[in-house]
Amino acid sequence: ESVINRIAAGEIIHRPASALKELIENSLDAGATSIKVTVKDGGMKLLQIQDNGCGIRKEDLPILAERFTTSKLSTFSDLSRLTTYGFRGEALASISYVANLTVVTKTKADTCAWKACYADGSLTPAKAGATADPKSCAGNDGTTITVENLFYNTPTRLSALRGSSEEYTRILDVVTKYAIHNPHVSFTCKKTGNPSPDVSTPSSSTTAQAIRLLYGQTLAKELLHTSVSSSGKGKGRASSASGETSNEDVADAENSWNAEAYFTNANYQAKKTTLLLFINHRLVESSRIKRALEAVYNGVLAKGASPFIYLSLQIDPKSVDVNVHPTKKEVHFLDEDAIIERIADAVQQALIGQSQ
Ligand code: ADP
Ligand code: MG
Repeated sequence: ESVINRIAAGEIIHRPASALKELIENSLDAGATSIKVTVKDGGMKLLQIQDNGCGIRKEDLPILAERFTTSKLSTFSDLSRLTTYGFRGEALASISYVANLTVVTKTKADTCAWKACYADGSLTPAKAGATADPKSCAGNDGTTITVENLFYNTPTRLSALRGSSEEYTRILDVVTKYAIHNPHVSFTCKKTGNPSPDVSTPSSSTTAQAIRLLYGQTLAKELLHTSVSSSGKGKGRASSASGETSNEDVADAENSWNAEAYFTNANYQAKKTTLLLFINHRLVESSRIKRALEAVYNGVLAKGASPFIYLSLQIDPKSVDVNVHPTKKEVHFLDEDAIIERIADAVQQALIGQSQ
């Protein structure tokens, strides 16, 4: 049974960066304003994420890593109402099947922190001879999750990984993208033993500032900005990226949607397209969106111009295709073609307006 669970877990957690993505989303769900990531050996030896979020209640710890039980879903109909279509309670469970998982957590109401270790979905003793139940310890409000020896028991997964420097690059990429999407949250990411982080963002910055910090001034000074929504009358609004708007408008009415994008103009040249796509705050991929936007750039600018695009799309969670397994990063949603066309049009107008 546990072999099957391990294989299933390996389908969800492909590599250190995919585990980290789930852990970051959990921290964001918990309302964290500070997320600190520490990595050893590309995340294969150690992947640790410390947040200052709401913490986990002690009574929830025994079932934390059980499959499905901690899911936000109580009934199947809830599936369509999930705003973050995450793992439905599978992330921590999956990690516990393929790594040593330790959780230290403290809620505001707790007087001390609690430490719990997990293996194969259940609490496990921290060391031989000890009991499995959570132990009190010192700790700040929030949660620190430590993942050690990832894939120690799944050699095929382990051997499919690249070297630790490439895995670390992917980790930095995930942190960078979530930092841009959550400019109000401070992120750091570093290797153990290194005093200075490789990614570090302040809280209370803006999307444009975060892009400047993480992708550099050269790119940032060529940014355009547009926002477009289902209720927008036609065109959408284009402006330079220095005029800030908030990220908070949410699609509330049935099938309503809104999108906000920051993207490079005609002056910016890169070797390949960088697309940071968030749908309902989850980092996803859509080859249709990517192709549509590349076509816009190729139409307006010289052939082969490669843009940087950050696009945050919020749609009615009911319209996201929930039959696509959440581990598939490629997503589909209702009215996809029409929505993509509106976004592509808005980007095109901004590019044309700017190049005149
Ligand atoms: P899901 O996020 O789909 O519910 P997970 O396995 O990712 O499933 O997480 C299980 C539960 O553990 C979450 O629903 C949440 O209640 C709790 N949790 C996980 N990480 C954190 C965290 N960093 N802070 C607070 N609660 C957390
Ligand atoms: Mg989760």
